Amino acid sequence: MTRFETRVDWLLNSYPLLTLEGRCPVGCYFRAALDRPAEADNSAAMTNDHDTTKPRPPCGRPDMPSDPMERAFAEAEAACARGEVPVGAVIADGAGRVLAAAGNEVEQRNDPTAHAEMLVLRATTAAAGATRLEDCDLYVTLEPCPMCAAAASLARVRRIIYGAYDPKSGGVDHGPRVFAHATCHHKPDVVAGVQAARSEKMLKDFFAARR
Ligand SMILES: [Zn+2]
Repeated sequence: MTRFETRVDWLLNSYPLLTLEGRCPVGCYFRAALDRPAEADNSAAMTNDHDTTKPRPPCGRPDMPSDPMERAFAEAEAACARGEVPVGAVIADGAGRVLAAAGNEVEQRNDPTAHAEMLVLRATTAAAGATRLEDCDLYVTLEPCPMCAAAASLARVRRIIYGAYDPKSGGVDHGPRVFAHATCHHKPDVVAGVQAARSEKMLKDFFAARR
């Protein structure tokens, strides 16, 4: 068993402990925060919420889908409910087990880089104590932007599976096409257009409601 696999094994076995604490540190932390009475909020919790460098271990959610793409969509819906652009992402190991899941947290964190993909990449590498996720796949409901595509390449993810194409802001099959450049030293396999219509509808509905 490699060091990474050992860490993953430990993290998966830690699910009951994490869920007993009543909070999921990945992806749904803000939902938990929103569910709390306002007076229960405190500055310490807010500091943790806004600390993007704080490692957030993956966790299991029996109430959330175990299928990685379904979980990504669930995270996108949760992001939408928080007023975030509805994009969700998941890192899964080689066996398809969800290691980290998150939706966009740009508004909550006041962090323009807090895209769902960045959050799950950071969470997984921090929890695994590794900078490379060679046996892992990134699932995301929308074509990653150039920043997230570059980050996935740096993390050496094996494969990117994404939903809707993003001709305006995408960086994989549109715009800079990050993986097509000679300066990109790791090109993940890409599977595009998975449940694209579902993702497009979610995004269209979100932006239509804001107009
Ligand atoms: Zn991005």
